[in-house]
Amino acid sequence: MNKNIDEILQLKVEEIVIKGCTEGLKVEDYSEIREFLFNYRNYKDNLYYKKLENVLCNHNSLRYYYDDDYIFYLWSNSSLLPFVLANNTHDRIKLYSTDSFMFLCQFHREKTPSLGVTNHVNLMYCFGCGFGGNVFHYLQNYEKISFKEALSLVAEVYNLEKADVKVNKALIDKYKESIMSNRYLELIEQGIERLDDRKDRGIITSYDDSAKKAYNKNLIQRQAIIDNKRIEDYPKDKIYTKVYLDRVI
Ligand SMILES: [Zn+2]
Repeated sequence: MNKNIDEILQLKVEEIVIKGCTEGLKVEDYSEIREFLFNYRNYKDNLYYKKLENVLCNHNSLRYYYDDDYIFYLWSNSSLLPFVLANNTHDRIKLYSTDSFMFLCQFHREKTPSLGVTNHVNLMYCFGCGFGGNVFHYLQNYEKISFKEALSLVAEVYNLEKADVKVNKALIDKYKESIMSNRYLELIEQGIERLDDRKDRGIITSYDDSAKKAYNKNLIQRQAIIDNKRIEDYPKDKIYTKVYLDRVI
């Protein structure tokens, strides 16, 4: 590696880190990083180049593309769980607490599940390798796609308002199938049963109500995809239990 290039990239990382830790990064900073990376695109394997790429993946950079409302709209109308389930190759999913599902990690080799997806917060974290984040981080890293493509993919999968980037149809189909799968329904039902059981035994935490709402959200999202409807077409003030769905749809 050209030592001079290495130093230039390292200095840029230090500058960005200091600015990010002190005054915070603004939209213009992200534009500048993007331009900087473009100029040094022949050095993509450089460690510091990769660090700068990670800065661009940071949630704060999302404002460059779309306003926060749109990102929140996609995030809150989607569920991370079936995405991780779609790429799970071992049937060793364990349910902990109210709604934390532990998978074998898809980002490092392991024999005991340590990749946790907590349904009601719609986030993941691996206790083995430290990988964590939301559905967009997951898709970016697992599918090796850009942030914009991850937004589009989530929008397409969940029949939400579209972003302006085309995504691979095979990916859309893979995740839609996961959402419609019986295995996903089993996980949701297992979670609901766990909550009911806890209630019967008088074990109720502050998370239980949120967990129940999240399972209901999973069910209505799943039903919307099966019916090929928009999630907005369903009444939001109902409790979407499976029994409810069977009765009214
Ligand atoms: Zn891991």
